[in-house]
Amino acid sequence: MAEKLKGENAVNRVTLLDRVWLSEDTFQLKCTRPEEFTFLPGQHVSFSVGNFCREYTMVSADTDDFLLFLIKRLPEGKLSPQLADMPLQTQIAISPPAGYLVNRNSPDMQVFVATGTGIAPFISMVRSGARDFTLIHGARDRVELFYEKELQKHAASYIRCLTTSKAVNCNLEGFYSGRVTSFLKKSFTEGRYAFYLCGVWEMIQEVTHIIDERFPASVIYSEGY
Ligand SMILES: Cc1cc2nc3c(=O)[nH]c(=O)nc-3n(C[C@H](O)[C@H](O)[C@H](O)COP(=O)(O)OP(=O)(O)OC[C@H]3O[C@@H](n4cnc5c(N)ncnc54)[C@H](O)[C@@H]3O)c2cc1C
Repeated sequence: MAEKLKGENAVNRVTLLDRVWLSEDTFQLKCTRPEEFTFLPGQHVSFSVGNFCREYTMVSADTDDFLLFLIKRLPEGKLSPQLADMPLQTQIAISPPAGYLVNRNSPDMQVFVATGTGIAPFISMVRSGARDFTLIHGARDRVELFYEKELQKHAASYIRCLTTSKAVNCNLEGFYSGRVTSFLKKSFTEGRYAFYLCGVWEMIQEVTHIIDERFPASVIYSEGY
């Protein structure tokens, strides 16, 4: 149950249950789900550790009895290295869920654009039943296309954009050699879409400009890290 800390923000306490490394620097963190904690797929919570608060997006389904997060360990970061090293069974305070990057069930084709851990909100949406979407997923290397098989199974169209030199020569169907921005500029069919963008701010800004130019009647929902 949510409690009040310092007389201000309602917080929930979760216990770390498991940590699985999905690549050299990115892990999935499993936590208990507090009673009465509900969220909309795509929403995030704020983790508080010591003096630091940082947001992380649920990748679990809204019906799972645990919470899952996909977290990138930034070596110079204040909080993500702590979450990477913290012993299991540690208790952490999290805020109530927040955020507006949630499934709008738009009549236009839904196009999810994600880079890195920005795939997180879309994983939760897919696990909670989202289908018939196009996903443009950017990563350096294939190992960073987190949850690739699961996404491939449920997306109507899944474009994997890879940017390392190893990937640039890969001619497999469904792969694009280059950034998501380049794909949207050069290869995505013009039309009217409901775009959902998630990743670092630089990507969001660049993609927003491209959408304004090439897909002007589209709507954009976005969340930058
Ligand atoms: C709404 C929201 C949802 C988020 N969801 C997630 C999530 O699901 N998983 C996740 O790993 N992070 C997520 N983030 C980012 C997260 O909140 C932290 O900013 C990140 O973990 C860095 O915190 P830190 O204390 O380790 O580093 P800091 O000491 O804050 O410094 C890190 C620096 O790296 C930049 N940065 C932040 N995130 C990334 C990233 N993913 N890749 C590259 N550079 C980055 C920051 O802008 C900052 O300049 C989210 C952020 C927001 C605003």
